[in-house]
Amino acid sequence: MIKNRPQCPLCAGQMRRNGTTTKGTTRWRCKDPNCGVSTTRNRTDSTNAHYFQAFHS
Ligand SMILES: [Zn+2]
Repeated sequence: MIKNRPQCPLCAGQMRRNGTTTKGTTRWRCKDPNCGVSTTRNRTDSTNAHYFQAFHS
């Protein structure tokens, strides 16, 4: 099974890397031209931000 390659949430097809966002998160795009969904994989960034907020207070 492919671990690093997410499936399309819409058509369950293969995704391919489509660069990164300004945050450095990898952006994925569906290979199917009729679908063309682009998505990013969630990382632990939000968890870190939450942790920082708790630390700040
Ligand atoms: Zn798709």
